[in-house]
Amino acid sequence: MSAVLKDPAPTAGRPEPRPGVLAIQAYVPGKSHAPGVEKVFKLSSNETPLGPSDKALAAFAAAGLKLQDYPDGSATVLREAIAKAQGLDPARIICGAGSDEILNLVAHAYLGPGDEAIFTEHGFLVYKIATLAAGGVPVVAPERDLTADVDAILALVTPRTRLVFLANPNNPTGTYLPFDEVRRLHAGLPSNVLLVLDAAYAEYVRRNDYETGLELALSTENVLMSRTFSKIHGLAALRVGWAVGPAHVIDAMNRIRGPFNMNTPALLAGAAAIADAAHVEQAVAHNERWLPWLTGQIEALGLKVTPSVANFVLIHFPDTPGRTAKEADAFLTRRGLVLRQVASYGLPNALRMTVGSEEANQLVVAALADFMAGKDATAKGDAGSPA
Ligand SMILES: *Cc1c(COP(=O)(O)O)cnc(C)c1O
Repeated sequence: MSAVLKDPAPTAGRPEPRPGVLAIQAYVPGKSHAPGVEKVFKLSSNETPLGPSDKALAAFAAAGLKLQDYPDGSATVLREAIAKAQGLDPARIICGAGSDEILNLVAHAYLGPGDEAIFTEHGFLVYKIATLAAGGVPVVAPERDLTADVDAILALVTPRTRLVFLANPNNPTGTYLPFDEVRRLHAGLPSNVLLVLDAAYAEYVRRNDYETGLELALSTENVLMSRTFSKIHGLAALRVGWAVGPAHVIDAMNRIRGPFNMNTPALLAGAAAIADAAHVEQAVAHNERWLPWLTGQIEALGLKVTPSVANFVLIHFPDTPGRTAKEADAFLTRRGLVLRQVASYGLPNALRMTVGSEEANQLVVAALADFMAGKDATAKGDAGSPA
């Protein structure tokens, strides 16, 4: 299923972007506002309810006092902190302004006109944007049960395939591939195809058959694993991501990145965050408690929830007028509970909810119960008060 690039007809007499650029539908971030509501709970972008480590906040504040110097273009402090935390060689790490930059660097380094990048049906939207921006051709592999399907991906490989993007676990579905499946995917790819394993939610996964892909990234010539500080580390505002891979891949990406792509506050806060293992543990424990609670409570209301291993849940709504995902979103927003519509991911009947604070989680469950019971969003006592 190779998507045809749909560029509008060229307009004579003015500069035109190269093919692919105007076929991009700009990424629409999760909402952060609920008009007219005093207390808003943002559960739309998988940010952590715990916030960043105090040590990261202190490092950020200190860095803010010295802004006249250029940052260290090779991100040494951050790469060394990551390497120490993960037990790997800093030379095999590249840092980026969020993993978004990492994903774009890979696309720009490995895709040219007509080159194909495969990703899955409900995969992270940045893969398509990065592919089109690089002039490549997006190729979409069907999923099975909202989960990546290795055979479907392998069936789409052609001589023009250069990249395969796989989010594991995936956003917005929350599903994952066990590592033997990831290995089977890698084994089935030609050696000149780069497999990009996006492990943005890796820290949250509590499954014995899950691995991030670090070992493949270190032991093969064609696997890159990317990570982010935006999720469990709570530094989304600073834009910090990284990747580990074969030396030749890291070298290619380093050649095309901006010389100062990381700012100093981000480098120092990131280094402090990854060293604070206790804070990460706390976030994992919070998620382990509330992910199953939310899943169970929402299912008890008669709604289907896709089993998630990450810090969010995908909630499926019926088609029935009055009970749709869109109407649920409007209802929740009126109570200051901001979830994420995922129609752009091919899931028009679902909403994605980030696991929030205890208060937010309970308010959402109470609100969904009222919504399913056909009550009014502004019903007495419910607006903004704890359940
Ligand atoms: C949130 C997320 C990222 C992280 O993006 P950043 O640019 O690092 O904030 C990467 N991949 C997936 C699948 C995500 O959901």
